[in-house]
Amino acid sequence: PATLDLQAIRAQFPILAERVRGKRLAYLDNAATTQKPEAVLQALDHYYRTSNANVHRAVHELAERATTAYEGARDRIAAFIEAPREQIVFTRGTTEGINLVARSFLQPRIQPGDEVLVTGMEHHSDIVPWQLAGARTVAAPVLDDGSLDFDAWLKLLSPRTKLVAVAQISNSLGTINPIADIIREAHARGIPVLVDGAQGIAHLPVDVKALDVDFYAFSSHKLYGPTGFGVLYAKREHLEAMEPWQGGGDMIRTVAFEGSTWNEVPYKFEAGTPDMAGAIGCAAAIDWLDAIGVEAAAAHEHALLEYGTQRMAEVPGLRIIGTAPHKAGILSFVMDGAHPQDIGSILDMEGVAIRTGHHCTMPLMERFGVPATARASLAIYNGEDDIDQLVAALHKVRRLFG
Ligand code: PMP
Repeated sequence: PATLDLQAIRAQFPILAERVRGKRLAYLDNAATTQKPEAVLQALDHYYRTSNANVHRAVHELAERATTAYEGARDRIAAFIEAPREQIVFTRGTTEGINLVARSFLQPRIQPGDEVLVTGMEHHSDIVPWQLAGARTVAAPVLDDGSLDFDAWLKLLSPRTKLVAVAQISNSLGTINPIADIIREAHARGIPVLVDGAQGIAHLPVDVKALDVDFYAFSSHKLYGPTGFGVLYAKREHLEAMEPWQGGGDMIRTVAFEGSTWNEVPYKFEAGTPDMAGAIGCAAAIDWLDAIGVEAAAAHEHALLEYGTQRMAEVPGLRIIGTAPHKAGILSFVMDGAHPQDIGSILDMEGVAIRTGHHCTMPLMERFGVPATARASLAIYNGEDDIDQLVAALHKVRRLFG
């Protein structure tokens, strides 16, 4: 793959020039949220300066501009994952997409004792919504290297399994899950599959049609787009069969006190004034990333992951958690004698932004016998200099706590 022009990419992210604690910023908290390129900042600014109006509801010119841009964003986002536009439901993010499926799809279809088969590395947002919907969550075990125990997963599929839910990439370990195999095996047993694409969307090419996935949820803010916006892709047959979960403007066809009828898909799942700027900003982010190419981004991040893995091995007492053979750019680690929170604070003083804690994966922390980890997570604009700054700061932690 072509190597990226890292300087040119970085120059498009104004925030990367910020100094923090008086130091150069090494932003390595990308699994939490990514920074935004000029193209996205300008799209948001342009929308508010030239086109802002409520969509779908007025005949005036600004409303027309807003609606055209907003629905154009749906086309752009749909094309990015090879989906028809009517199957793209706009949400607030991955969390809302999963909750929508839990409420509108799962809840009406389950009996007491029915199960959702998840994995031991799921984010809380791919566990709790199923529980709220009344399902039992059964988790397939995670192997010592952070891979899914696929054979054990297979054995946990049962007639009680009403849905399979799995992260494309683990936000805590970076493990890339075998979603194509999971979908094939689940479908062979008539079980639908939801893929949590929060960590996958910016780091792996996604083709929902080829995958034949039932539901795919992601967040714009992990994809260099604005916060507060996300997407749920779903198969048309599911969207048609599902009842809306929120009522309000735009999701109806007719309203009467005796009862109301619903708009066509996807609009019946989009109650209320939507995040117009969010959709437009997300589409701008996709345009921007697509021009570089997700595959090129992934290759760059993978090379950096290998460099980071090697460099961190030099730090005495440091242990990386999650060494699966199929892994994306996430480095979770613990250090002898230093609490992750202390690591995070010392790194912050050196200009290195990482995350510490349970990363919304408490069962996974339990599995590895740690209360928390420190986590460095990579994006397209990171380079070896960021890793070097991280490793130098880790040696400082070592000196203070070793
Ligand atoms: N799943 C995974 C794997 C995640 O990493 C995240 C975000 N940390 C989510 C779900 C939830 O995404 P959001 O908070 O954007 O709704």
